Amino acid sequence: MRVFNFSAGPAVLPLEVLEQARDEITDWNGGGMSVMEISHRSKAFVAVAQQAESDLRELLGIPANYRVLFLQGGATAQFSVIPLNLAAEGATVSYVNTGAWSRKALGEAKRYNKVSVAADAADTAYNSVPPLAGWQVDPAAAYLHYTPNETIGGVEFPFVPDVAALAARGSASAGAGSARGSAIPLVADMSSTILSRPIDVGKFGLIYAGAQKNIGPSGITVVIVREDLLGRARAATPTVFDYKAMADEGSMLNTPPTFGWYFAGLVFKWLKRQGGLAAMAERNRAKAAMLYAAIDSSAFYRNPVAKDARSWMNVPFTLARPELDQEFLAGANAAGLTNLEGHRSVGGMRASLYNAMPTEGVATLVQFMQEFARKHG
Ligand code: PMP
Repeated sequence: MRVFNFSAGPAVLPLEVLEQARDEITDWNGGGMSVMEISHRSKAFVAVAQQAESDLRELLGIPANYRVLFLQGGATAQFSVIPLNLAAEGATVSYVNTGAWSRKALGEAKRYNKVSVAADAADTAYNSVPPLAGWQVDPAAAYLHYTPNETIGGVEFPFVPDVAALAARGSASAGAGSARGSAIPLVADMSSTILSRPIDVGKFGLIYAGAQKNIGPSGITVVIVREDLLGRARAATPTVFDYKAMADEGSMLNTPPTFGWYFAGLVFKWLKRQGGLAAMAERNRAKAAMLYAAIDSSAFYRNPVAKDARSWMNVPFTLARPELDQEFLAGANAAGLTNLEGHRSVGGMRASLYNAMPTEGVATLVQFMQEFARKHG
């Protein structure tokens, strides 16, 4: 029996896709073998890989001057790989700190470069996105990094930062002119928001995401990088993490995670059948609105995030009586609502509402929450 799985990641995958993968697991494409048992260099697998890339390009509207890489190491590897590829030794890199994941990213970057913090949401206990007016982007920064969706805090940017305007402001006050501003690449960790709504890829220098939320099983990392940023890796960069070397080899410089790539391709086809990202955005907006409305209309539940920065994907909430947390989780489990326990660093509850979470799952959760509050409120 399937449950409604609210895990933050690895997370729920579309049932249709799981069933297709199950049906194909021993005999894929009539070849008498699974897709996991064939060479990544075979014609059949290369076709799978190319189709997945082209479907992803179509879904996100990725311009022709961007390369799509399918890598390993998770988003965490990218925390190091990004400075190694985009910043020279001794250069300054700029980070926005909105919570646990941006903090990890900037902590890792400090091992390679001087990190300048452009903005920090500490004054709101990381429950908001710092207003652009206060950002200080070093005009000499090699790139500006931010985390559009903080998976743990449930904080999501309601805007894409306009780096050119920000850097122009920085250089004007430094008297250095604004010429460099438009050249600072914007780098985004989209691990927990990619494919949840349409984005304008052209505004970014680089987008990266671990697969295990909206893309597929863990083990694959998608990097979308503007072509002019390739070929700048430091000499000591491991070859499998050199964006240009990987782009030149179609992400097959070594054996890629073939099953994950195949599965991601099935998810991209599923997304197209759902009507693409505009349709997903409508559904995701409605699912999140339903849950936030249930939280806000009850004195028993609370979400601490500023309304304009509330995540569509990850909704943390607490109970007015935390001594009931275990009873809430046990009751939810019994009702087929699983993995609602908050991140170990914050406690409380967290419901992740990725693309594959059906509206019915959120409606069932809301109903459960209302009944629980009636009984215990
Ligand atoms: N960034 C964000 C926003 C995440 O949510 C996660 C994982 N939950 C990571 C980075 C780390 O990803 P990985 O485990 O793939 O390294």
